[in-house]
Amino acid sequence: MLLDNHGRKINYLRLAVTDRCNLRCFYCMPEEGLDWLSRKELMTYEEMLQACALLVKMGIEKIRITGGEPFVRKDIMKLLTALSELDGLKELSITTNGVITAPHVAQLKSIGVKAINLSLDTLDANRFFAITRRDEFANVMQTMEQLLLHDIEVKINTVVMTGKNTQDIIPLVELTKDLPVSVRFIEEMPFNGEGHSYSGIVWDYVRIFDEIRRVFPTIQKVPDPLYSTSYNYEIPGHKGGIGIIAAYSRTFCGTCNRIRITPQGTLKNCLYDDGVLNIKDLMRAGTDDVSLEGILRNAFNNREKDGWQAERKRLENPDFHESMATIGG
Ligand code: SAM
Ligand code: SF4
Repeated sequence: MLLDNHGRKINYLRLAVTDRCNLRCFYCMPEEGLDWLSRKELMTYEEMLQACALLVKMGIEKIRITGGEPFVRKDIMKLLTALSELDGLKELSITTNGVITAPHVAQLKSIGVKAINLSLDTLDANRFFAITRRDEFANVMQTMEQLLLHDIEVKINTVVMTGKNTQDIIPLVELTKDLPVSVRFIEEMPFNGEGHSYSGIVWDYVRIFDEIRRVFPTIQKVPDPLYSTSYNYEIPGHKGGIGIIAAYSRTFCGTCNRIRITPQGTLKNCLYDDGVLNIKDLMRAGTDDVSLEGILRNAFNNREKDGWQAERKRLENPDFHESMATIGG
């Protein structure tokens, strides 16, 4: 078992395979996109596989592929297929915006992907355009349909943004009445690639819950699975469930079981840290697996206690303009 210096089990890796994306969600990146990483800066699939195999050997049980948009990276199914065959890996999942995912759903099912997080902030095509700056709502809905058709568990990720989509909270909850989907409302975090910093947020997890309870007073708490980052609820008579993720308020750090690798190979011990080492650079410098394992263990022995502590260090760098597309969410 892999433990950190605070006694927390580490068994979950989020691997961002690209920073590129076919949407431009305003809370994630500027309209003109990012300074995309060059091919040389990106981890190759071979490097990703080597890192994942080592981490699985060390104790990682679940890998989530994210980005940027994972499906815009060429031959992504090759990487996903190879990862699905890793000895010891118990769960492979993906977070996608669903724009070009639908054609891959049957193959995802066949390689054993059981759950997908689909990002969708509104059920209104015009608001979708206003938020993502792209006219792709219909394609996302088609992906949702395909996922449900293939019996893949769907979790919808909805970032709640003041003045943008709070009117969508109730319609999204209503979706759970007839569809077996879990809708998870996420507090907006300060990672829009433009150095946007907050003094706080208006729609935090308490306010989101109050808004849902106002319309659905029978909403009730259900037990949260181990390591869950969401507070989970159900509404009697609804097929799906509700989750609220206090991503800005950071109420879940005490049981944090996750690490991240960015598209350029940076290991992040915390979503809010600035990266602790670069796995790709170490591999390219000829570091073998035995030495790399030692270096990784040392990094896991120096994890910050929580996201507040990690963020304090990151903010020491005033030029920090991170986009969620280079973190992976
Ligand atoms: N492109 C894919 C997608 O959108 O699902 C995967 C990458 S995206 C960075 C992963 C998740 O991060 C998405 O659910 C997205 O809504 C969320 N996200 C992006 N920027 C965010 C922000 N500033 N605050 C909260 N969540 C954010
Ligand atoms: Fe792209 Fe996902 Fe960021 Fe939206 S949240 S711009 S879909 S990476």
